[in-house]
Amino acid sequence: MTTFSDLNLNPKVLKAVAEAGYETPTPIQEGAIPAALEGRDVLGIAQTGTGKTASFTLPMICMLARGRARARMPRSLVLCPTRELAAQVAENFDTYAKHVKLTKALLIGGVSFKEQDALIDKGVDVLIATPGRLLDHFERGKLLLTGVQIMVVDEADRMLDMGFIPDIERIFGLVPFTRQTLFFSATMAPEIERITNTFLSNPARVEVARQATTSDTIEQRLLEFKPTRRDMAAKQKREMLRAAIKAEGEACKNAIIFCNRKVDVDIVAKSLKKHGMNAEPIHGDLDQSHRMRTLDGFRDGTIQFLVASDVAARGLDIPAVSHVVNYDVPSHAEDYIHRIGRTGRAGLKGVAITLAVPSDEKYLTAIESLAEMTIPRAELPWTPEETSSRRPKSDDRDTDADDDKPKRRSRSRRSTSTDDDQATPATATPEAQETDAPTNDGQGRGRSRGGRGRASSGGGRGNTVVGMGDHMPDFIALSFDERRGGPAREDEPETGVDEGSASETPEAEAEAPKPKRRRRKKADPVEAQPDEATTVSDTEQESGEQTAPTDDVDGSNEDAA
Ligand code: AMP
Repeated sequence: MTTFSDLNLNPKVLKAVAEAGYETPTPIQEGAIPAALEGRDVLGIAQTGTGKTASFTLPMICMLARGRARARMPRSLVLCPTRELAAQVAENFDTYAKHVKLTKALLIGGVSFKEQDALIDKGVDVLIATPGRLLDHFERGKLLLTGVQIMVVDEADRMLDMGFIPDIERIFGLVPFTRQTLFFSATMAPEIERITNTFLSNPARVEVARQATTSDTIEQRLLEFKPTRRDMAAKQKREMLRAAIKAEGEACKNAIIFCNRKVDVDIVAKSLKKHGMNAEPIHGDLDQSHRMRTLDGFRDGTIQFLVASDVAARGLDIPAVSHVVNYDVPSHAEDYIHRIGRTGRAGLKGVAITLAVPSDEKYLTAIESLAEMTIPRAELPWTPEETSSRRPKSDDRDTDADDDKPKRRSRSRRSTSTDDDQATPATATPEAQETDAPTNDGQGRGRSRGGRGRASSGGGRGNTVVGMGDHMPDFIALSFDERRGGPAREDEPETGVDEGSASETPEAEAEAPKPKRRRRKKADPVEAQPDEATTVSDTEQESGEQTAPTDDVDGSNEDAA
């Protein structure tokens, strides 16, 4: 069996590795370290969790231990797709280089230009950067890349997803032709293949078997349920989430809860907090220092539940996560493997719980075929029922503009309270409404028929109509809705993306009919956030997180930093 001392590492680095508690090198380390130490280019096909970071940091530290940095000319460059990954790589350097004198700078959004400029001015051995930020510095004339001897591209496939490949190509053109390149990617898409063929010279190719299977240390559970009503789907999903967490009891030390969309990350985190759970969101719209604080809090246990988007949590190394919950079934099967791989690490036991609704079926099929297993269906910790006090959705609604009008009209009806109102007091209570109106048509759509709204519970100014003398024309006593044959709709359920979309995938959303943006009154801060009333274009923006360049990356919002 290969040990670290067989890899020709510097004794000071070996000491740090031993102090980190590593006993044997992982396959990617075993393959990449000797080749890198020989000065060869390396093409590492491996993903997070395989020990790939140490497979380039350890040889880099050994090589950089010889020689000195010159002002504004970093000796090595590590490019990462996200700020978090860059920060993580920087931490790895701190851990493994603690007995070696090396200087480093971190060029990422959210970290002040001034401080990093000062470090670079003095000269750094290692410059860790996201591509956009690096080019910013370069263009401002603060940086010379002609001293780079080793260049690392980490998570190249993510760079591709995020639209960074042109930046990477440009940076390759700015560093010396003679540099050594260590290039890592989880997959070899044709575009990545092209880049490696162009910029790597006879690389040692080290491939670690692709993780298409889930670890035996992870106990998986699928909670399949059908929301009772389409407009209640999101609310019931949140309720199911809470029930699932509670059912785990003490065993749930902490959890990462994955949502497919940023908007849901916020909603779910707020909802959990509102219900007394210690939860924080993490996604690309939060500023860097906030994200770092949240991650630190989750790592040190002050935050128990981290509600995350795939991009924000990608590549992050958070040891000892007892549970992963897929609030949404991921629409890319590989993301399921990555997500649940956050638990059950280093031989520890982990639990992965997935909430699924009927529209997730095709994604579940794809996941199960990739993982070559059936995710065990578990007993539901809670049964969806009509617990909401919301009134059922009316099918008679037509325009947004109309939505407010009936409310006012129904109020006027109250003020002219009729015998009819008083004769039906039962419909005044939310409970009565629930038993009164909703029926499920089997497709999750509630129906309210008969045109009756929530009747007044007798408020208003009594039965007398003031100012009409003894005569009151009949039409005054009728509500507008009755005249139109439509319902009075006070307290109508809030709709928006809630309506069945919470569990839908970005693709499904793009196809979905455009939800109406509706004005909200007295919205519950969690259950009816303004965000929930998002338009299709908002939604598409959120879903862009899956495929397109996002503001999670430094090319967009970091540049503004
Ligand atoms: P990475 O794939 O670089 O994100 O590393 C995943 C995790 O594995 C990190 O927590 C590392 O600290 C850890 N690790 C790296 N190399 C080893 C090793 N040889 N033995 C045990 N753990 C390791």
